[in-house]
Amino acid sequence: MAKFDYDLITIGAGSGGVRASRLAGKYGAKVAVIEESRYGGTCVMRGCVPKKLLVIGSHFANHFEDAIGYGWSVQGAAHDWGAMIAAKSKELDRLEGVYRRILRDSNVETVDGRGVLVDPHTVEANGKRMTAEKILVAVGGWPAVPEFPGREHVITSNEALDLPQRPKRVIIVGGGYIAVEFAGIFNALGSDVTLIIRSGQILRGFDQDVRSTLAEEIEKTGIKIKRDYLIRSVEKCTAEQGGGYSVMFDMGDEVRADCVMYATGRAPNTGKLGLAEVGVKLNSKNAIAVDEHNRTSIGSVFAIGDVTDRINLTPVAINEGRAFAEAFYNNNPMTMDYTNVASAVFSQPPVATVGLTEEQARKTHKVRLFISRFKPMKHTLSGRDERTLMKLVVDRATDKVLGVHMVGDDAPEIVQGFAVALKCGATKAQFDATVGIHPTAAEEFVTMRDPVPEKEPEA
Ligand code: NDP
Repeated sequence: MAKFDYDLITIGAGSGGVRASRLAGKYGAKVAVIEESRYGGTCVMRGCVPKKLLVIGSHFANHFEDAIGYGWSVQGAAHDWGAMIAAKSKELDRLEGVYRRILRDSNVETVDGRGVLVDPHTVEANGKRMTAEKILVAVGGWPAVPEFPGREHVITSNEALDLPQRPKRVIIVGGGYIAVEFAGIFNALGSDVTLIIRSGQILRGFDQDVRSTLAEEIEKTGIKIKRDYLIRSVEKCTAEQGGGYSVMFDMGDEVRADCVMYATGRAPNTGKLGLAEVGVKLNSKNAIAVDEHNRTSIGSVFAIGDVTDRINLTPVAINEGRAFAEAFYNNNPMTMDYTNVASAVFSQPPVATVGLTEEQARKTHKVRLFISRFKPMKHTLSGRDERTLMKLVVDRATDKVLGVHMVGDDAPEIVQGFAVALKCGATKAQFDATVGIHPTAAEEFVTMRDPVPEKEPEA
């Protein structure tokens, strides 16, 4: 008789958990996945996918305006928020079905309920105990909202994706990925949007030129950025007071809004999982501490994805899940490589980046910089006042391209290809030897010949 009920029990059917489980199932392991919410997890149900659909939906507003410069007359175009949300929700239902089917087709059992660790080989769900040789925790993260008076009135990205109506005046707190993406969605659809950031600039961690360029571009589109600002309290206003919310700032000033959204980061879902009871150690950020093989402090318990707070991106969780399954169920030892992971911000215009920022590179290398700023061809006729930024950070000593950064239309589609080049260790000379595709914006990355002159050191 088998020692355990399963070879693997995975808690969490998000991107990472599903990839690990279905590969393990495909390689012949007996696997169960426990999920208390919707199959697909944050990315598919509350994040990347619905957000991108809303970004696409909101972008049409610009397309209609831009078309006029090309001779189109666009009259009577109106947007129905409810119709967009309903269409998006229908697509998520379809995707959830796909995720369940993929698991079924990979011989993975699904358990709908909350899984809690009982001991290093036992999980309890729906009052039933199940044992496994290995347990994989892939429960992701959740929006983190600080404590302040009126916290109960604010929403997060979870609710923003399902608002019954589009709010006319929106306050978004935070200057990270989620804040700038939702600012772009609401603004393009006609809402009055204010971003509240506690520091001097949006997108901490990104290249300085990317940060300042995006801030300039989104401010041109009408998004207001209040810098070095903090909210003191949020109060609900009565109908007599005009409805909505009164937002009080630390500076003492006040604004009214129909919706206050917090996008102040996400926290790993490590509570009430039985982790401490079983002895699974957390790190200083309250995430599950794991080694390069995704193993926790308990030998039979593993963790992947946002709950480990390494690089919190879906493709990273998927690759961690794949590495786990390959190593333990396909005799193919693999670890995730965290270098040169490309990422994008689906702001309007979007940002994409791979490799080191100028600031990171300067800490360890002498660099040459190549920067190009231009008006995209489309906007020569549309008349839109939008400029594109492209930037290469190159190691002076080896000529290797260390970083590729772009703010502008199609940046995520363009930078994905250059991420391959960086993985291959491409040099600037190899970029220069590559023939561009004309006329595109992307060709600029292979035709930048003159480095930015180095500033003279101050006397
Ligand atoms: P981020 O960590 O990217 O940004 C959080 C923002 O909130 C920062 O601007 C931060 O300011 C600010 N902030 C934090 N705490 C407070 C506070 N107490 N008061 C006021 N402001 C505060 O988090 P997000 O929520 O935007 O996204 C979470 C994660 O989700 C990202 O790290 C990313 O990994 C992932 N994600 C990826 C996307 C993509 O790939 N396109 C899209 C969406 C999310 P400061 O800069 O001063 O610290």
